[in-house]
Amino acid sequence: MAYIKKCLIWLLTVMLFTGCGIFEYSAIAETIFNDKSEPSASETTSEPASIESEIVVTEEESAVTTEPIPSPPATLSLIMVGDILLHDSVEAAALQEDGSYNYEAIFAHMTEDIQAADLAIVNQEVIIGGEELGISGYPAFNAAFSAGDALVNAGFDVVCHGTNHALDKGRKGLLNCINFWKESYPEITVLGIHDSQEAQDDIFIYEQGDFRIAILNYTYGTNGIPLPEGMPYAVDLLDEAKVLEDIEKAEKLADFTIVCPHWGTEYQLKQSGNQEKWAKLFAANGVDLVLGTHPHVIQPIEWVVDEESGHEMLVYYSLGNFVNWTGESGNGIANRMVGGMAQVTLEIKDEEVCISDYGLEPVVAHLEQGVNGVTVYKLSDYTVELAEKNQIRLQDAAFSKEYCEQLCEQVFTENYK
Ligand SMILES: [Zn+2]
Repeated sequence: MAYIKKCLIWLLTVMLFTGCGIFEYSAIAETIFNDKSEPSASETTSEPASIESEIVVTEEESAVTTEPIPSPPATLSLIMVGDILLHDSVEAAALQEDGSYNYEAIFAHMTEDIQAADLAIVNQEVIIGGEELGISGYPAFNAAFSAGDALVNAGFDVVCHGTNHALDKGRKGLLNCINFWKESYPEITVLGIHDSQEAQDDIFIYEQGDFRIAILNYTYGTNGIPLPEGMPYAVDLLDEAKVLEDIEKAEKLADFTIVCPHWGTEYQLKQSGNQEKWAKLFAANGVDLVLGTHPHVIQPIEWVVDEESGHEMLVYYSLGNFVNWTGESGNGIANRMVGGMAQVTLEIKDEEVCISDYGLEPVVAHLEQGVNGVTVYKLSDYTVELAEKNQIRLQDAAFSKEYCEQLCEQVFTENYK
């Protein structure tokens, strides 16, 4: 299916676009990206009955084809989801009858979409310090190592740990987390936290074919907890001099630079002046894509253009929560149940990497009591019946499927269809 998808994307690209630049979100691309339940033409018929199936058959049987086939342009699909915010009630749902923690149910309805992307990024809001430090929710969070297993099994490749909760369990929590990733999943990239100066100075470059993509992750702070003594490199902070130094290095090493900032004001549906200030700075220094987290609610998507150079940068100000179960009640709590999965397609055109398509898949945290009761759905898969069962209604009676849809329309405007 992945091969067929790439062919379809290529066809779509050829039909719709003649070059790189700013495109409106493509409803056609949305359909092709997300509708994986329908079998493709090549699966339902042996005859080439459509343009799509002709392409698949032609390429597979290229040995007997006399016409030269132009190779499709190289594309790279990336997704990112927001905060994995493991409150006590989420931890309670992950606690199995045998006393172990298992977080797989959270990702069960999203795994197909996450795995389908070439590059999948997640904001791991809470430190994964392991059970020896005690599993805890708000305000000083700590998750079991199996939370990391669940992220990997869901299909994530890059884990952003640069959050305000990175030091909730101090030096031990940070080092436990880094060691867990190194020992169990050396192939997974961990950003934002480090155990040496060399590790912090190293700029992560994701390479795939001719793509070289730099990804940087920073947090505005660590909830007033100082960096561990002798470890000035422990957490990547939004320190202007350091950020600009990193971006300069990234621009030399890569063709496309992504920044994942942990920024903004909690529960605000619009970006703050501080986020706009940083976005301008990123754009002025050549950053191409910004995928923001921390406000725990969704915020707008927009292009920021550097006035001096004309450089265009796409910004997702906040992807909201992927999962959470706050203990708070009242108006606006329902907003925290809605997150977004950023979907961006990159393409190499005239030896430049650019954004050929972008969009967002809204997601909903579904909360029920009991083991494995917490899970996440795409809003497009969510039902009125499920929404009625969502226990968050006891904390904010306004929650419904329609409420989630209206929130997405309000915040994402034309980027949500
Ligand atoms: Zn945060």
